[in-house]
Amino acid sequence: MKTIGLIGGMSWESSAEYYRLINQGMKARLGGHRNARSIMATVCFEEIKALQHDGRWDELGVLMQQAARQVEAGGADFVLLCTNTMHRVAPAIEAALSVPFVHIVDPTALALQQAGIGRVALLGTRFTMEQDFYRGRMQDRHGIEILVPDEADRAIVHDIIYDELCHGMIREAARAEFRRIIGELATRGAQGVILGCTEITLLVSPRDSVLPVFDTTALHAQAAVAMADDGAIS
Ligand code: GLU
Repeated sequence: MKTIGLIGGMSWESSAEYYRLINQGMKARLGGHRNARSIMATVCFEEIKALQHDGRWDELGVLMQQAARQVEAGGADFVLLCTNTMHRVAPAIEAALSVPFVHIVDPTALALQQAGIGRVALLGTRFTMEQDFYRGRMQDRHGIEILVPDEADRAIVHDIIYDELCHGMIREAARAEFRRIIGELATRGAQGVILGCTEITLLVSPRDSVLPVFDTTALHAQAAVAMADDGAIS
């Protein structure tokens, strides 16, 4: 079994979800007490959040490179970054690693393609919804068109992520807002919705959505389990 490297802490609420999912996934695959082998480097989200909101992506790239080197030095055979937003600096991370980096867009795109979906709604932080790093890879590399909420609803989604979900706060009123926003994206022609922030899964389940849900946390974790299971049970 290979060792999964995880760059976490953004926020730790979702990193805990990754940890649970990779271990449950490996146990379901191999049985017994076979959890996943893994190593996680956890950064301080306060520092990360401040740099993001100041647009200091180069410095964030350096911090992510440091964390990536830590997990590689700790024995990771490949590395996952447990946040969609910080994939903004994926090229810097890839440049720092000599083991593979599993980009969160790729397993998500594969699941969308398998479901026959070519136009999908994206919910995430403003950075993920508005900048090109995510939409560009989805569209250019995988041929999937992205729809995002309007300005007012992007602000609502962004604020719920940072002010509530990243603090582990789950409110019914926030869930209702997500339900409404997903409904509006469905009327605009979305065929599915990407939960493109690794905390949204804590709030929104498939029963809250009129559209098929593509949960990046679960899809990324599942991809890691499949990659880590090299077929030789140990
Ligand atoms: N975990 C979130 C994401 O997937 C947001 C936190 C962050 O800014 O990294 O985008």
